[in-house]
Amino acid sequence: MKAERTRSQERILKLLKSLNKAISAQDIYVELRNRNQSVGLATVYRALEALKLEGVVQVRTLASGESLYSSVQQDKHHLTCLQCGRSIAINQCPVHDLETQLHQAHQFKIFYHTLEFFGLCNQCQMAQATGVGAE
Ligand SMILES: [Zn+2]
Ligand SMILES: [Zn+2]
Repeated sequence: MKAERTRSQERILKLLKSLNKAISAQDIYVELRNRNQSVGLATVYRALEALKLEGVVQVRTLASGESLYSSVQQDKHHLTCLQCGRSIAINQCPVHDLETQLHQAHQFKIFYHTLEFFGLCNQCQMAQATGVGAE
């Protein structure tokens, strides 16, 4: 299904494709303004919603509740530290083949998937072990 995209949607999609990371709607708004392609914040949210349903943009929610958007082409996963909030990208997808299998078994058109690991990063483990930063 190819719905006609608005100019705002095109701008946002182009921006997300050009960036190598997931960013918040607020940051998309700022980035576009910096590029002299200003789009209102409400429009950014509306456009993201439409692009999401089209299957070209994916959203990832952080432990803090903040939503980060990225172009769906990037099949990336993260290790997120619950202590300091740092996210470490991992460059492999353990469920890539599963997606194909599920699609075939259920005739479900899968746009994207999320898979995230939570715990303590190296630095926070060390801080914990030495008692530094402990309450
Ligand atoms: Zn940490
Ligand atoms: Zn994946």
